Amino acid sequence: MQIKEIERLKIRGRVVAHQSMKELTSLRIGGQADLFVVPEGLEDLKTVISFCRERRVSFLVIGNGSKLLIRDEGFKGVVVKLGTSFTRIENEGEEITVGAGLDLSTLIDFVAEKGLRGLELLAGIPGTVGGAITRNASAFGQDLGQRVISVRALDNNNGDFTIPKKDILFGYRTSIFLRKRDWTITEVKLALCPGKKEDVLSRLREARDKKMMTQPISLPSAGCVFKNPASSSAGLLIQRAGCSGMRVGDAQVSIQHANFIINKGNATARDTIRLIDMVRERVKASSGITLEPELEII
Ligand SMILES: Cc1cc2nc3c(=O)[nH]c(=O)nc-3n(C[C@H](O)[C@H](O)[C@H](O)COP(=O)(O)OP(=O)(O)OC[C@H]3O[C@@H](n4cnc5c(N)ncnc54)[C@H](O)[C@@H]3O)c2cc1C
Repeated sequence: MQIKEIERLKIRGRVVAHQSMKELTSLRIGGQADLFVVPEGLEDLKTVISFCRERRVSFLVIGNGSKLLIRDEGFKGVVVKLGTSFTRIENEGEEITVGAGLDLSTLIDFVAEKGLRGLELLAGIPGTVGGAITRNASAFGQDLGQRVISVRALDNNNGDFTIPKKDILFGYRTSIFLRKRDWTITEVKLALCPGKKEDVLSRLREARDKKMMTQPISLPSAGCVFKNPASSSAGLLIQRAGCSGMRVGDAQVSIQHANFIINKGNATARDTIRLIDMVRERVKASSGITLEPELEII
């Protein structure tokens, strides 16, 4: 694939060839993407989607890359991140319409300032709205899916459709968007609850502080690596299996939070996957439980 081909399409936004995925993911790991495009608006996004469909090129839409482990070989195809016109936010009373490219933290601050409840416990999650919908971001018993009215998306034929909450099949860190890899979320409608601004802000700060105290947020990671099994906490099982601090190359099981793998500098995807496998084996041997990865390996 030639960069010139896509440049000819005159897409408004950024187009970069051989983009390092290290720069686009919170784990700071991954090879290059053939092309990285940040379409400015909906028509530009549609042009990229048509380009990929017509040339049978793989397409991956990302947010802040905070739940992704990109392989060292990189991504053969086009990686898309939504541009600034997908970061609009407006409210009519308790109903919020927000672009999928907006940072979740900006959305949370916006609604908290308006004294609206329902998202404050998600404070400190470093994703975008689109990524948080796809993975149904959750914390302290709150999840984004609970607040959704509907989601607007494009399919790979550029069909622009709105999908109501009941069809999104939200679950623990999952939604229909995790299976429909060629759908791109563009906008989300949420319904929040009226509350008192001071109360919402205080709950928000408490949630953010708790995260800062319990998670290694100053080091590159992708949040929790494994889902919590029904009966227990993955972090606890990993700790009990003696995996805290275990290391392969520069990938290390965090001592602060055993369900996090941190990149100590130059960790590769190979190191990280090897470490994930070792942790799973040890936990299985010590508890009989097979942990299911939460991290998405691309
Ligand atoms: C320090 C740290 C703490 C974290 N704490 C939590 C936590 O408490 N709770 C929690 O749930 N998660 C947590 N996470 C994980 C992560 O932040 C969330 O899953 C977040 O919602 C992912 O958003 P993102 O924009 O980074 O998505 P990405 O990682 O970029 O993508 C995730 C998935 O969403 C898809 N996607 C992204 N945008 C779109 C779009 N517009 N249309 C269609 N698909 C899209 C991608 O293809 C991918 O499948 C944490 C991560 C870190 C690094």
